[in-house]
Amino acid sequence: MTNREVYRLLRQTSTLLELDGENPFKIKAYDKAADAIRNYPGHLLEDVAAGQAIKVEGIGPAIASHLKELAERGSFARLDDLRTRIPEGVVEMSGLRGLGPKKLNILWRDYAITSVDALMEACERDKLSGIKGFGHKTQAALYNAAMYRQQQQGLLHIDEAHERAEELTAWLGTQPNVKRSAATGQVRRCLPVVEVVELLVETGEPASLAEALNASGLEAYYQADRNRIDIAYGKGERALLHFTDADTWVARMVETTGSEEVAQALLPYVKGVQTEDEAFAKAGLPTIPAELREGAEVLEHVKAGIPRLLEVTDLKGTLHAHSTWSDGAETIQKMAEACIERGYEYLGLTDHSQTAAYAGGLNTQRVAEQHTEIDTLNAKLKGFRVLKGIESDILPNGDLDYPTEVLQQFEFIIASIHSGFRMDEAQATQRLIRAVENPYTSIVGHPTGRLLLSREGYPIDHRKLIDACVANGTAIEINANPYRLDIDWKWLDYALGKGVSIAISPDAHSIGGLDHAKWGVAVGRKGWLTPEATLNCLSAEELLAWFKRKRG
Ligand SMILES: [Zn+2]
Ligand SMILES: [Zn+2]
Repeated sequence: MTNREVYRLLRQTSTLLELDGENPFKIKAYDKAADAIRNYPGHLLEDVAAGQAIKVEGIGPAIASHLKELAERGSFARLDDLRTRIPEGVVEMSGLRGLGPKKLNILWRDYAITSVDALMEACERDKLSGIKGFGHKTQAALYNAAMYRQQQQGLLHIDEAHERAEELTAWLGTQPNVKRSAATGQVRRCLPVVEVVELLVETGEPASLAEALNASGLEAYYQADRNRIDIAYGKGERALLHFTDADTWVARMVETTGSEEVAQALLPYVKGVQTEDEAFAKAGLPTIPAELREGAEVLEHVKAGIPRLLEVTDLKGTLHAHSTWSDGAETIQKMAEACIERGYEYLGLTDHSQTAAYAGGLNTQRVAEQHTEIDTLNAKLKGFRVLKGIESDILPNGDLDYPTEVLQQFEFIIASIHSGFRMDEAQATQRLIRAVENPYTSIVGHPTGRLLLSREGYPIDHRKLIDACVANGTAIEINANPYRLDIDWKWLDYALGKGVSIAISPDAHSIGGLDHAKWGVAVGRKGWLTPEATLNCLSAEELLAWFKRKRG
């Protein structure tokens, strides 16, 4: 069970406790623990299982004993008890955006709505708009949230999908009849959202693997005719194990990786080869990295050669990180030290700006205080630099969140929209472009505001935004948080063609969050991103010069 799954279970417990009428003080303890776990740097349950004491603020003895139970059997008594008393459909509804415990209680207890389906039906029949505290707007929002949920059922974020693939690979490695196994399909192609986790497995005894998987508590079915095992996880997620022998390994790898068109181009050349590289060479093609294998167009594109794509080790520093000055979990110094450990030359610190009061945004006074702290820290940290940045809210009219004399004091600014999401495409695009035109905006943050599998974000005209960035010398980030991956990789072709610089932004709120960078690199590679086009492949000095250029 990943940290995020533990986080979700604790959040769910908190919601269920609230539905159950538990006292607010106890409920808060679960929320606090959930937050602490989200920022936990290691693999929490592995540490618990290994008997390590978890010394994290927010985790008291009660939660610690829940964690022990979770590590042992995947659940804990308090949660089991709540689940027996609250209908499963209500538990499922509790995860819907915009449906808090208060409203949920009304729907459940007063109107006997106990499933997402029933909720959708009630909305369709306009049964909610008359309920006190609901109204037409809420009804429409709940309907959309339920709809979205049903469409996203069983899908995984990139990090969860890769983690699951790694878990399966590790497990397969312990099985005596397995010669080798490797990720394939959408995981190997590094898609931001994965429908099914696929692995290729070399073994002579697939049927016995299904038994072993069942024995380990997973629902697995061996399909002899398709020579594969289907694994079904609890929430509708799926995994497939495809079986092969040594002779057909490359052919099966090519086929299962996709795209269909790339596979068709290669399959005539796979006989007798030991590696994909050989097959590509025989087909007269350069080796196409798995991330690039989308559609048929890639076969055309690679004829002009494939540039050296970006790698995590190319990043010279990190841009977009939060500290305890706003809503981050660590001090600036701790974040800086973690950057040094990762071999970075700089930390582009970007706490929230004053309008983001909910996230501890910095007023003018606090900006000055933070800069003093950064100066002191930089004097101590030889060969490393904390850059004075801010993630400035883009106000509804497109202005940045400070007067000019304050904006001038930052070395760079990421401009992001965090509120007022109800905009049509023209409004949203105009709001962003006005921010891009501001001489103090260095980078556009998470341009669409989407949260993958949870929120669609506002519609924008990507072409117009990119064109404005070109005209104004402004970079765009790939927000590397696996929930965002925004700007979407599909727009990189256009952006890079126009010469826009791309920042790989972990949007780190903790030390672990710094490593989101790898997901940004993964989807960046899908869009053919090179080190030359990546802003944080510049050295600190080059980068500061780059930022200054726009200000003129
Ligand atoms: Zn943001
Ligand atoms: Zn941020």
